Amino acid sequence: MRIDLHAHSNASDGTDSPAELVAAAVGAGLDVVALTDHDTVAGHAEAADAVHALPTGTRLTLVPGAELSCVVDGISMHLLAYLFDPAEPDFAAERELVRTDRFRRGRAIVERCRELGADISWEQVQRIAGEGSVGRPHIASALVEAGVVATVSDAFTADWLANGGRADVRKHETDPVTAVRLVRAAGGVPVFAHPGAVKRGRTVSDEVIAGLAAAGLAGLEVDHIDHDEPTRDHLRGLAVELGLLTTGSSDYHGSRKTVRLGEFTTDPAVYEAIVEQATGAKPIGG
Ligand code: AMP
Ligand code: ZN
Ligand code: FE
Ligand code: FE
Repeated sequence: MRIDLHAHSNASDGTDSPAELVAAAVGAGLDVVALTDHDTVAGHAEAADAVHALPTGTRLTLVPGAELSCVVDGISMHLLAYLFDPAEPDFAAERELVRTDRFRRGRAIVERCRELGADISWEQVQRIAGEGSVGRPHIASALVEAGVVATVSDAFTADWLANGGRADVRKHETDPVTAVRLVRAAGGVPVFAHPGAVKRGRTVSDEVIAGLAAAGLAGLEVDHIDHDEPTRDHLRGLAVELGLLTTGSSDYHGSRKTVRLGEFTTDPAVYEAIVEQATGAKPIGG
């Protein structure tokens, strides 16, 4: 069983459509893929249709999910949510709040980039983002188009879009204890995404993670491209201490990042535990 529990489509800042992501998951030899767009479930229906349309004999299970933008003590962090009820009103309202503020903040970042001499526009960013939940990676693509930086990843420096960078503007983000409770109340299973991704900025303390565990966190994403080996070892130890599951996943973003779908995977027993804990939705297909 090859299980990848974190992937983005163009419903947020990935470059594959949800249907293309499903095809890519089959191509990568995955048995299970989770669609976890930032603060949105807009890609779920198309991905589910694509799974149902797979030829007989091709088996792929889709785990509908999302990645919620959170902040604690000024430190941004991401919470993966699996198999929640997308119609549950409180969690849906919080996702909507974050998505809406992404537009205000996107415009402000573009303005700031222009002040700093980058010839990009909000229209351009909107064209790049399409219907997707707009974020810094779309603005990074605009900076690449304008020849300001060579790659999307080069835009995430202090000069431009990195956390605290010259053109970084904060968006509304949810307190993670609240977010964990919202996900659980919607029948979902919350997993802390890349908790030790130091290259993205400051990371939260073990004490904060312990607090999230007490609030109902189910697991930590340990095997992730932004974690070195000592970080993974530390997180594995912390997970044992706190009684948390550990997952592995690619955080695939199509051509916007170099990581390949299925490059990191989750143990089947952990996947089973996540499905067992969920009451909001069931995996699709397979
Ligand atoms: P946003 O949700 O708009 O704040 O943008 C966050 C997204 O930017 C994350 O999901 C990452 O995909 C991307 N990102 C953050 N830091 C980096 C980085 N250092 N290099 C490449 N992409 C990054
Ligand atoms: Zn992203
Ligand atoms: Fe993330
Ligand atoms: Fe992600």
